[in-house]
Amino acid sequence: MYNIGIDLGGTNIKVGVVNDDFKIVGKSNIKTDLPRPAEEIADSIAKGVELACKEAGIDVKDINSIGIGTPGVADRNTGVVLYSCNLGFNNTDLGGLLKHRLGTDIYVENDANVAAYGEVLGGAAKGYKDVVVITLGTGVGGGIIIGGKIYTGFNFCGAELGHVVIEYNGRQCNCGRKGCFEAYSSATALITATKKAMEEDKDSAMWNIAGSIDKVDGKTAFDAMRAGDKSGKAVVDEYLNYLGCGLTNVVNTFQPEMLLIGGGICKEGDYLTKPLEEYIKRESYCINPERSTVLGICKLGNDAGIVGAANLYRLKD
Ligand SMILES: [Zn+2]
Repeated sequence: MYNIGIDLGGTNIKVGVVNDDFKIVGKSNIKTDLPRPAEEIADSIAKGVELACKEAGIDVKDINSIGIGTPGVADRNTGVVLYSCNLGFNNTDLGGLLKHRLGTDIYVENDANVAAYGEVLGGAAKGYKDVVVITLGTGVGGGIIIGGKIYTGFNFCGAELGHVVIEYNGRQCNCGRKGCFEAYSSATALITATKKAMEEDKDSAMWNIAGSIDKVDGKTAFDAMRAGDKSGKAVVDEYLNYLGCGLTNVVNTFQPEMLLIGGGICKEGDYLTKPLEEYIKRESYCINPERSTVLGICKLGNDAGIVGAANLYRLKD
């Protein structure tokens, strides 16, 4: 049986045909080309589905279901995107628009949630039922799987774990609050902290490593730390402490079997996970060390959203 998973982003519409082993057997990629009316975006999605099916060597009418991961808030039961600032959607019946074009059952869900679901089905958390995924990118995204199902809260706005405050009255966050987890632990926050430390220490190895301040990325401070640079190490230490704090809050709230982190920063491997494991072990509320949350790294990368979306049909009530 084949299902289609769609990662609908602000830049690209990525479509994948997914088989029963959670493997992608055909793909397509079309520019989202915003701003555009929802009808036109639906036309492009339908085109993407056709192309991906062609690559997989199957017919569109042999597809069991189509699932879409979208930025913003989506009502999974109706297929309506309640709100998406990125796409300019407001109470947009994306499911209806696509059903009209493709004739198959359509499921719509928030993109971070479907990515978490993908990791649980075919990625790093395969076989686990209670899992939280935290993605460290431009922001800090969250996806919560409880008992093998996506948890969104009654109004589909849940799992915004990046907007839990870890420092009262702290750094300004894009959401309007101050001191959010996201304002300290996103890749953006790490880059901002790295640049600030460079301005304060003109002798830091970070200047040579980055080449120039405009070329600073999430790796700069880690590379400097490994080269023995004091300012680089200070940036990394502070970053890991905030990240450890936020992740421990997640552990204390959900006590998931597995807590996954994803995003480019995870390429740091043990330099990231070892100190975080120690922090979480030290600070989390756990009465039985034999049954404590396992920290892992996401495995599917960008494919997680496609695999998760393709399998939304499994969650139908
Ligand atoms: Zn916030």
